[in-house]
Order: sequence, then structure tokens, then C-alpha cells
Amino acid sequence: MTVNVDTDTVAVDIRQLTKRFGPVTALGDVSLSIADNEFFTLLGPSGCGKTTLLRTIAGFEAATTGEIHLYGEDIASLPPNKRPVNTVFQHYALFPHLSVLQNVMFGLQRLGKPASQARQRAQEMLDLVQLKDFADRLPTQLSGGQQQRVALARALAPNPKVLLLDEPLSALDLKLRQAVRLELQQIQQDTGITFIFVTHDQEEALTMSDRIAVLSEGTVQQVGTPKAIYEQPENRFVANFIGETNLLNVQTTTLENGDAMCELQSGRSIQCTAAHGAKVGDGHISIRPEQLSLSHTDDALLVGKVTRHVYLGTDMQISVELEHGEHLTVRQQNTETHAMPSLNDTVGLQFSTNAARLLAD
Ligand code: ATP
Repeated sequence: MTVNVDTDTVAVDIRQLTKRFGPVTALGDVSLSIADNEFFTLLGPSGCGKTTLLRTIAGFEAATTGEIHLYGEDIASLPPNKRPVNTVFQHYALFPHLSVLQNVMFGLQRLGKPASQARQRAQEMLDLVQLKDFADRLPTQLSGGQQQRVALARALAPNPKVLLLDEPLSALDLKLRQAVRLELQQIQQDTGITFIFVTHDQEEALTMSDRIAVLSEGTVQQVGTPKAIYEQPENRFVANFIGETNLLNVQTTTLENGDAMCELQSGRSIQCTAAHGAKVGDGHISIRPEQLSLSHTDDALLVGKVTRHVYLGTDMQISVELEHGEHLTVRQQNTETHAMPSLNDTVGLQFSTNAARLLAD
């Protein structure tokens, strides 16, 4: 879905939220608007505050300052069990002595649903996560991926308005993780429930999310669609954290309406797109390795010497040391039309205007 968050469709509105644990500021002045029916991901390295933010939305932690509104209502005074949210944790925590069906029914019955209705709803949820035929098994008779799907069915069963998912795929192996990713995305679309998904895995975030918030040290670095985050990073942290990139020192001479003219260390000027907050003077541009292509040295934007190349199957990773000592990585597809350079060859590099991004810091 395309997300334009207006006030009518805001599911979760986080306003200047700060959370301190003694001297540690886990979240510092975080503001985010998450739309109804959105698959929204909190992405960042270990310790950046993702889990704390999720736990504060769920009501397991109280904000030090700031507010969280759910569908227009300030939820500060609501205990966790009164909030229209549910959580799927990294460790599934299923009841080992209850069958799959009973695990999914359990929460519904605690909410006061009669057994027959709880059973019917639990069966629907098991159908949704493709575990209908496993209803009578015990959790120990399931694989890790199946257990995580039971946990998902259990969390979806009360029909929460918002589902919080705290690294739910991290205990699964790579192949399973990739398969469950697609299922999770499909389930979000089928149910229309707003998902807030926490991960430190950028590939997971890029493949599943409508939008991503990148966090570092308790602050929001950038919010945007996967494409915007990858192609138009705002600062060095985001450019480095999402995928691989090359950072080059530049002198920005002019800056207007999101376009900049930047002088490379070679003295050559290039046109770049500029991040919000980019400044004239000393700065950095980011260029993704796949946006660089090898060329003849005549009239190339950059010239350097090949210091390493690594065969990666679908493509080659080529390291180039530029004339002024900076190092770049180039990704070139392995096709018959691309001749691979040898070590110590002098090569030229080209890139298009939109590939170079002047960063804010
Ligand atoms: P991970 O990916 O490793 O789970 P995270 O991004 O979820 O990390 P949080 O668990 O939210 O990070 O932690 C944010 C910061 O707050 C960390 O510095 C952490 O040590 C600190 N922190 C979290 N909970 C507590 C607590 N109960 N008491 C003290 N400090 C805490």
C-alpha cells in the first residue's frame, strides 16, 4: 500500500516520547505517526531502543515524558490488557501441555469468549496461518517456524487493532525466515491489522515493510518507504546501515531545491541529489556499489587502481583505490558483456546524477 499519513488514518501517534532507565536514555524525543493498516518496521542495531519503544506502546514500560495515542486516544492510563494491541515475541512461549488449538483458544477464553466461539475463531486463525491440520498436536511436535505461526495465530485471534512483533523471525533459519516473511506480509494484508515489526535485519525490513523508521541510539534517523530509505538516505548512519555504500569527501559549492553541485577530491564537479539538512562546504556523498560502472579512464568521473576482486556468483565485487587515496567498492554483474579487470589495472568509474546523494552529516 502507499502510505500518506493523515490525521484520520493514524493508528499509533507517538509524540515526543522519551524513556530513561536511570542514566540510560533508551528513547530520546521520538515522534512517529503510523498509519492504519500499515506494515511499519522499526529498524536499527542492537541497543538502539526498538524493544523499549514496542514495550512502551504495549504498556509494559511507562514513558518518562511524551505521549502515545492509539486511534486518537491517549493510552497512558490504560494497563497492557486494556490496550487494543497484542504482541508476538521472539520466543514463542507457547504452553507446552496445551494443543495447538488450545494455545490459540486460551487468550480468547480469558477474554470471556464462550468455548464454542473461541474454538471457531481459533480454527479460523489456524487456517489463516496454514496450520489447520496441526490443531491437535502439542507445540513440541512442531518445527520452529510452525510454532512461530501458532504464536502469530494466538496474537491475531482477539483481533487487535495493532500487532506488535518483536524480532519474531530471528530464531528461525535463513530459508524458513525468508518463507515466513512472505506469509507474514500476506497475513497483514489479509487481516488489515496495523503491524509494527521490530528487526535489526535490513533485508527483512526492506522486503516486508510499507515504511521503515531507522533508529540509532534512541533517536529516529529517517522514516520512509524501503525505496526512499535505500535510494535517498539522509545521513551517513542510514546510508551505512541499509545495504552497502561508498562515502566520498566532497566540497559542496551550490545547493538549491534538493540539487547540489559537489567538487570531488580530484577537482571534478558532479551534480547530486541532496538530503534535507545537507549544507554547503565540507560534506559526504553516498554512492551504492551497484550504481558504479567500470569505464575507460578517458573522461571518467573517477579514476583508480583495482586492489581486489571477489567472485560472488551473480556479480563481482571490485575494490578500487582512487588517485587521492579513497577506496570504493563496485558491484558489476557477471554477464558475458562485462570484461573483468585484473588486479592493479587502472580503471575509470561512471555513475549517473541520481546515484550520488549528498548527505546531511
Ligand atoms: P536489541 O536489538 O539488542 O534487542 P533494542 O534496539 O531492542 O536492542 P532496547 O532493548 O530497547 O534495544 O534497549 C535500549 C537501551 O536501553 C539499551 O542501552 C539497553 O541497555 C537499555 N535498557 C533496556 N531496558 C533496560 C532496563 N530495564 N534497565 C536499564 N536499561 C535498559
